[in-house]
Amino acid sequence: MGLTMKRTLINELKQHLGQEVLVQGWVQEVRNLSKIKFVILRDRTGDMQTLALQTDTEPDSFALIDTLTKESVVEIIGIPKENKESRWEIEVLIKKLSIISMAEVPLPTDNTDKSQTQIDKRLDYRFLDVRNVKKNAIFKVRSKLVKIVTNFFDKNGFTNINTPKMTTIGVESGAELFEVNYFGKPVYLAQSPQVYKQMFVVGGFERVYEIAPVFRAEKSHTMRHLTEFTGVDFEMGFIQDEHDVMDFIEKMVKDLLKNVKKEAAAELGMLGVELSLPKKIPRLTMAAAKKLLAEKGKTFSEDADLDSESEKLLGELIKEKYNSEFVFITNYPWAVKPFYHMKSEKFPNTTKSFDLLYNGVEIASGSQREHRVEVWRAQAREKGLDPATMTKYEELFRYGCPPHGGAGFGLDRITHRLLKLDNIREAVLLPRDPERVSP
Ligand code: ATP
Repeated sequence: MGLTMKRTLINELKQHLGQEVLVQGWVQEVRNLSKIKFVILRDRTGDMQTLALQTDTEPDSFALIDTLTKESVVEIIGIPKENKESRWEIEVLIKKLSIISMAEVPLPTDNTDKSQTQIDKRLDYRFLDVRNVKKNAIFKVRSKLVKIVTNFFDKNGFTNINTPKMTTIGVESGAELFEVNYFGKPVYLAQSPQVYKQMFVVGGFERVYEIAPVFRAEKSHTMRHLTEFTGVDFEMGFIQDEHDVMDFIEKMVKDLLKNVKKEAAAELGMLGVELSLPKKIPRLTMAAAKKLLAEKGKTFSEDADLDSESEKLLGELIKEKYNSEFVFITNYPWAVKPFYHMKSEKFPNTTKSFDLLYNGVEIASGSQREHRVEVWRAQAREKGLDPATMTKYEELFRYGCPPHGGAGFGLDRITHRLLKLDNIREAVLLPRDPERVSP
């Protein structure tokens, strides 16, 4: 059955009112009122109601509906009709129904909107979980974000690069590295593409980006940390200073929100998310941010980093003061940033660095990098690192290196904040954390 007919998707039915169509999908729900039976069907474009009537549906198909289990895959030949009273506005009158793949009972999880299944179990059966149209919508939005950001990099002269994820080069703290046995030798899962991004700015591409996994061996049990996440990293050459990088990010964020609002309107509507478009993103030095926090009774030493609680509070204060969901916090203390960030002349003991907060959570972190080899070496030593152990990194600055800077975003964090999800795990198909490495 159906072999000669072309499949019609649920969101195309409007164009086929009154004509016989073939629809295929999963059974979301069956309601049997004896003379009339309803089958809610779902495909990749959404869900809809189909109905079988004793008078119009083939008797075998009519009987078959009684045996249908939830989440089975079926195909239906029927006629789409308008029904203004139904929430779908269109319903398909079933002529013939056949089962392609029957789902076993009971299902291991409940993937309906009323589900009480805990997140752990849902993640164990993620392929069932994301059949729910709202859960599915999160990943449609995420997919759009990747597309929009990729277009934006492309339009701005960036080259997409792929850098190794098994490496012996690590620039952040060694404590965060996962060790891998590489034919008997220890290598590490990349905790950042930092060195490689700089390598190919220096390699003449000037502007590079990568969207790829990043691994962090941190035993964090928070709603915003994972041990594997998707980094959106970029690096750009020939900048004047870190403000060029922030200017670029500001344009990127505006472009991202404007386009996702347009291109994922249906999904955002389904998730009840209203996006407001950013105007000017305020830039506050860390010292100024600490002053604001002090007014609310939160005090920090000059060299301290912000904790997540103060980032949240800062998010609220910025919203109040500047009516902005975003803020750049600039000039982090030298004490809390890596050695390769350029130091600021204007604000002593600080670096030309910044973090971008979105509704009180850090979503990106960047800086101008130190490209003068002598200064680079001195800064490494100041942080207790021996440049002789990083010769492959050091060489980048020895054969013609333009001033440059860049930043790293977490795609999962952006999705998490943009959709106001309570847990970053909701924004990742198969999250990895200290307790979860499966499926
Ligand atoms: P945080 O202070 O939130 O732990 P970080 O300072 O370690 O983050 P960076 O190393 O600057 O973060 O990484 C750049 C971006 O990558 C962050 O702004 C965030 O969006 C994302 N990110 C970092 N660590 C994680 C993680 N463990 N899980 C998910 N995303 C992360």
